[in-house]
Amino acid sequence: MDYKSIILSQENIKKYCKQFKYPIVLRGKTINLLCPYCNDKSMTALCVGQTHHIDCVSPNCPHKDKKFTLVAIVRKVEKDKKDWDREKIIQYIKNLFQVKALTPQDVKEQHKWFDYYIKNGFSLTPIKPNDKVCIESEWQNKEHKDPSEWKEWIKNGLNVGLNCNMSKKMIIDIDQKPIPKEIENLIGNTLIEESKRGFHLFYQQDQDLPKTSIGEFTLVDQEGKEHFIKNPNFQIKLNGRNTTLRKMEIGDKTMIKINNEEKLVTMKSYLKIDIENSNNEQGAQVVIYPSICEDYQRKFINENEIISIPKKFKEYLQSKIGTIAIPTNSEIVRQEIKNDTYKLPLIEEGEGRHSFLFRYACILRKQMSVAEVESAIVSLNKIVNNPPLEYKEIKNILNSTNMYSFADDKELAEKILEYLREVDEATNRDIERAIAGDNRLKAEEKSKIDKAIAYLKKEEFIKSKKNKLFLVKKMEWTNNLIDTLKQLPFKVPYFHDLGRFCWKDILVIGATPGIGKTHIALNIIKKLSEQGIYSHYVSLETGSRHIEIALQLGLTEKDFRYNKEYYNPLEVELEKNAVTVIDWLNPVEFENTHLIFEHFAKQLCKHNGLLIIFVQLKENGSFFAPNLMNIFPALTCKYFYEDGSDGTYGHFEICKIRESIRKKRLVKIPCMFKWETKELVRTDELKENENIKDEQIIVDEKEE
Ligand SMILES: [Zn+2]
Repeated sequence: MDYKSIILSQENIKKYCKQFKYPIVLRGKTINLLCPYCNDKSMTALCVGQTHHIDCVSPNCPHKDKKFTLVAIVRKVEKDKKDWDREKIIQYIKNLFQVKALTPQDVKEQHKWFDYYIKNGFSLTPIKPNDKVCIESEWQNKEHKDPSEWKEWIKNGLNVGLNCNMSKKMIIDIDQKPIPKEIENLIGNTLIEESKRGFHLFYQQDQDLPKTSIGEFTLVDQEGKEHFIKNPNFQIKLNGRNTTLRKMEIGDKTMIKINNEEKLVTMKSYLKIDIENSNNEQGAQVVIYPSICEDYQRKFINENEIISIPKKFKEYLQSKIGTIAIPTNSEIVRQEIKNDTYKLPLIEEGEGRHSFLFRYACILRKQMSVAEVESAIVSLNKIVNNPPLEYKEIKNILNSTNMYSFADDKELAEKILEYLREVDEATNRDIERAIAGDNRLKAEEKSKIDKAIAYLKKEEFIKSKKNKLFLVKKMEWTNNLIDTLKQLPFKVPYFHDLGRFCWKDILVIGATPGIGKTHIALNIIKKLSEQGIYSHYVSLETGSRHIEIALQLGLTEKDFRYNKEYYNPLEVELEKNAVTVIDWLNPVEFENTHLIFEHFAKQLCKHNGLLIIFVQLKENGSFFAPNLMNIFPALTCKYFYEDGSDGTYGHFEICKIRESIRKKRLVKIPCMFKWETKELVRTDELKENENIKDEQIIVDEKEE
């Protein structure tokens, strides 16, 4: 889709008419509106289906071919824009609704700034769309200075962050508007960027300043007495949620404890500054232009050169930092919580304290050692749970997230596997020698290696025969080892309210050639990752289109892993207790489809897990092996586009469900594909403001 059809889309026609009270009537996927050219008041203009073209059906319409777009309506509605050219109006609508699409003007602007970035040695890092979260796990050490890479990310809808250390830059993030007077005079003439709530001041890296947060708050109590709090992480409750003073705006009220007395206070003024600077322990990254955060595009407000921080400003900041030391680890956890989709609620008894911690532990476990997860979960439990769970319950959670004790020596296991890959077979001693050289091993080191070998055997990565170790031929995944989950602790995307799904289930989704199976598959993975579930994606197609789609959807390396090379489906060895998505099976290529299904059924028996298989349907929409679809899967369905649709509207047609939880059989789940974000959403789960039925000025046909 080109930028014009995205910006002038039917959705935006609806939004625009609603906002400017322009007459419009909605009939399903057809909209009916006043023709801006016809002078009578008849609603003769039609926009049908997913096109952005509007046609006037009046035979008397004076407009040349009776075809036009939202541009014509804007010229009619907003008199000051009646002489604007098409591109200017498109740009205006884009900004009005913050549409994610690149116009020629945006591209020109981008080139200018990318040239600036190159000249100033910027190294950028890819960030999730409309977010601040890095996509790469080890982003701190990854240099990306090639603008063609940046352009590719932007094209895919990603945000970009400035890697402070790699770029040798430091950013002072003034997290408030306007810049306080006392600071304005100190900052010097340097590059400034505006964000939704504040300003980024760019400076050359200066190792004298740490990465930290400054927060000073003046609160007034009911007697008019002022209280000064100097702590960016001071805990409060705001609108029933646990949060920090930083989240309060001027005039907000909260209860705080002062000298052991609960007092109602009002925020009078504050100072909120983040210093984003890298040191040896932690990286720093700031999301910059042309990124969009909270639906707001960041932009530079000048084109100044980046200077060294003025001495006076540096001294000012140093005087503010002083007393509060924030431990690095808790800062990371705090950031994770902030970045995660979970809000910070106070979870009361009976409101899912256990399930929250469980899911959170799963997320943390992808990155942290068992001990680190434990300490994080223990402190999180105290912050969010009311009352906190007892320690033995925490222990249960940790056990059920399969914190296998060995995984902390993952690197060692990788080394052993690597060695076995080279030599095919080896004794324990060979392995010790390969790892430690000819040095004599300490008992402790030897025991580490023995444990690693035992683990690899247990997980069936290697096997032994007559004192020799061999590699078990397994799929090679591109990321780390897996999590084991004892029960199905998540909702199966799109189908969760249809039936009961268990481990070892197979779900089959059929689609005819030309239907975006990979889009559906990766949407499923995204929905799983939002629940803390890490998926395995097996592409049976060649090429790397799935990676592009994954990036567009905002998936990161922490969300899933995929096979590196092509596999014959009969040789796919599933991971233990994993959710695996197979994209996709073409029964025409594989005569023995039943063998493939038998193979997967056996694999699930052996390894547990949940398997979602996409299969190609015949052109007429039927399955190649219909009886197989009745035997193996717990759910069989098909995805179709609506007639004449470009893929925006479609539906799942449910063919078979083993354990239905509905009284009435559901046969159709209508969905909508959002071209801007590449998300596939059940229409009944669309947010209110996106839902057709909720638009006030649009009347239902029956009411006429
Ligand atoms: Zn007309």
